[in-house]
Amino acid sequence: MTAYDADNIFAKILRGDIPAYKVYEDDDTLAFMDVMPQSDGHTLILPKTPARNILDVDPDVLAKVIKVTQKIAKAAVTAFEADGATVMQFNEAPAGQTVFHLHFHVVPRYLGVPLRP
Ligand code: 5GP
Repeated sequence: MTAYDADNIFAKILRGDIPAYKVYEDDDTLAFMDVMPQSDGHTLILPKTPARNILDVDPDVLAKVIKVTQKIAKAAVTAFEADGATVMQFNEAPAGQTVFHLHFHVVPRYLGVPLRP
């Protein structure tokens, strides 16, 4: 697999080189709003340690990220008055990954409302 690239956009957000609308942070994880949301409340959750995707990450780090993903999903559904949430995660370009630092998407869903492209 291709090596982790420390110049990816999420690594820059983690370093504070570029801004993001942060909604949660702890010692191991960061969550911020997606800049091109597919629904109201679309949030991204990532580990602070470098990992390209799920194929690359330490399982203990992954466990921490998925726990925070659940926390964010619950909070987003409540805060954005959604009817549910889609949780998505992509691994490598053929699978739809565009930013190569592991992240989970929490996309609140609303009855009868399709995702924005
Ligand atoms: P992927 O396809 O890699 O799972 O999704 C990457 C996501 O990152 C996309 O939903 C995209 O809108 C989001 N994104 C890309 N660049 C930025 C950025 O600079 N800031 C934020 N907040 N989100 C970004």
